[in-house]
Amino acid sequence: MVVILLGPPGVGKGTQAVRLAAAIDGEHISTGDLLRAARRDGTELGKQAQGYMDAGELVPDALILDLVRDHLASMPSEASLLFDGFPRTTAQADGLDSVLSGVGRQVDRVVLLEASNETLVERMSGRRSCMDCGAVFNVHLNTSEIEGVCDNCGGPLIHRIDDEPDTVLHRLEVYQEQTAPLVAHYEAHDSGLLRVQAERGMDDVYLDVRNAVGV
Ligand code: ADP
Ligand code: ZN
Repeated sequence: MVVILLGPPGVGKGTQAVRLAAAIDGEHISTGDLLRAARRDGTELGKQAQGYMDAGELVPDALILDLVRDHLASMPSEASLLFDGFPRTTAQADGLDSVLSGVGRQVDRVVLLEASNETLVERMSGRRSCMDCGAVFNVHLNTSEIEGVCDNCGGPLIHRIDDEPDTVLHRLEVYQEQTAPLVAHYEAHDSGLLRVQAERGMDDVYLDVRNAVGV
C-alpha cells in the first residue's frame, strides 16, 4: 500500500504519520526529516537544502526527487510506504507516479489534513522538535515530560528556525501557491482524496485518518 498524507505545515502530518506507519506496517518517509538528517550529516544535499529550508521555501524538485528515489532504493520493493510532506508540487507528484509505475506500483490513498491558518500558526509557534530523533512536542498542547528534553530519546528539543513567526506565515503562502494545487490533482487521480478535519485532538484525528486509509 502507498499512502500520502497531504496538508499544510503544522497540521500534524508527522504526528499522525508515525502512528499510521505502524498501523500499516509501513515505512514512514518524511522528506523534511530526510533533509534535516542530511543537514546534520553535512552532506552535499544538506548544504544545498539549508538556505531554502530556513527561509521557508521549497527545496528544488530535482533534489527532492533524487532524495526520494535513493531512499526508496534502500527499501524492500514491496514495502508499504507512507509519504509525509511529499509530494509538495505537481512536478513531485508526477515524479512519484513515474517512480512507482516503474516498479508496478501506484498511489493507493491520499489523505488531506485540514486546519485554519490561525491554528497552524499557533501550533508551529509552540512546536519543539527533537534534534536527534525528530519527535515533535508542543509547549501548549503536548508538552514533554521534562522541559527541553525528548521523551522518546532524551535528545535536546529546539524551536526550528523555520517555525519562527515570519517564516511560518511565508510557509503558509508557499503551501497555498505550490502545494494546495495537489488537492485538485489527487481528487482527479485514481487514488481519490479523503479529507480529515485536523483541528481536534490527536486521537480523534487519528481515528479518522485510519478510517480514510481503511486500516
Ligand atoms: P512542515 O510539514 O512543518 O512544513 P517539514 O519538516 O515537512 O515541515 O519541511 C520543512 C522544510 O523542508 C520545508 O519548508 C521545505 O523547505 C523542505 N521540504 C520538505 N519536504 C519538501 C518537499 N517535498 N519539497 C520541497 N521542499 C521540502
Ligand atoms: Zn528524540
